[in-house]
Amino acid sequence: MRLNPNIPWKTRGNGAISFQVGMGNKNKIKIGEINKKEIFAHQKLIQDYDSSDYSKIKTIVKNTVEKYARMEDENTNPGLVILKKQPDEKQYKKAVKEVVQLGDVRTLLESLEGYCEGYKNCRGLIGAISAIAWSSLVDKTYELIAYRKEEEWGTKRDVDDESVKKMDKICTTTFDNYDYVNNHNRLVPSSPCPVLYGIRGEVKEDLIQASSLIKSESVDSWILFETNQGTDDHLQKKDIGEIQPYQSVIVKGNVVQNPYTIEGGHVIFTIKDSTGTIDCAAYEPTKQFRGVVRELVIGDIIEVYGGVRKKPLTVNIEKMNIKYLAKIVEKIENPICPKCGKHMNSKGKNQGYKCKICGMIGEKPITKEKQRTIHKGFYEVPVCARRHLSKPLKRIQK
Ligand SMILES: [Zn+2]
Repeated sequence: MRLNPNIPWKTRGNGAISFQVGMGNKNKIKIGEINKKEIFAHQKLIQDYDSSDYSKIKTIVKNTVEKYARMEDENTNPGLVILKKQPDEKQYKKAVKEVVQLGDVRTLLESLEGYCEGYKNCRGLIGAISAIAWSSLVDKTYELIAYRKEEEWGTKRDVDDESVKKMDKICTTTFDNYDYVNNHNRLVPSSPCPVLYGIRGEVKEDLIQASSLIKSESVDSWILFETNQGTDDHLQKKDIGEIQPYQSVIVKGNVVQNPYTIEGGHVIFTIKDSTGTIDCAAYEPTKQFRGVVRELVIGDIIEVYGGVRKKPLTVNIEKMNIKYLAKIVEKIENPICPKCGKHMNSKGKNQGYKCKICGMIGEKPITKEKQRTIHKGFYEVPVCARRHLSKPLKRIQK
């Protein structure tokens, strides 16, 4: 699970994991290998775990979290929750879209039969309960994560770019693998974590094939996850006047200020609807996408998808849908005097034109409609700048 990506108190990608334990039915599929042991998941739960197993499960989970969590990092605030019943999905929806108060989660936990353990500032409890509340019925994708051998953790990863490009071409149901324009291998994380690579896609079987095509250092273990990545679950349609900090929004408006570039190479412009105005930004890491944004002009109508930064209140664009392109008319020549047939002279900036032979005034210059270099429809940031939750156009347009 990825939860609200705009939360200032998150740990890195604001991720959480949940899984169900119990007795499964006969239908099982292989979802991974750990210590050379095959891991299977059952399609259906036929029986809950025994209450005698309950404390065993609790101990395993608690020990695992305490062994691997990097408690010394001030942003690491783990939480674990074990529940007998799935909480209402609205808990997940809130945590992926809004700001959830820890107090509210504690109240909810008290009302549910279960066990929880919060570490340090305990905000991890929010992610844990929200991950359990997720239902994959509406939309989901898969990610196959391959892990490194423990002795390699923190060292430079060896994942062959060419094999990633080859996999990208063959396995067409995967997405966000490689950024060909910026030469960025998106499978490989940038942090010194135990993950070797993660392949995202629509079809779980294809991810197993995709993984077999990757040439890399030896894989210690791998697991296939169901995820909410690439679903746009974080976004909500808003009028400009309703937008709150830390939300992610889909907002439609007229461009009322032309794009301009600020220090650091970030491009800013302003849109307006009947409820207000808001700045939109394509930050430097969005690379070539900024070139598209710079082509917008006053009068264009666009729908912007992105996370809301608090100060100053700005929509950080993940993708945009251009609904209407304004006509840009540019002057090509001074007007021709209808009497004398000669070009008229300008009387000065915004002063109009005058024929120097007969003194005629009031003619308009000769203009031409300028060809726009951008088209109506969607544009998205390059793969290297993609957010985990953002639905790639590849998924929208399929
Ligand atoms: Zn004239």
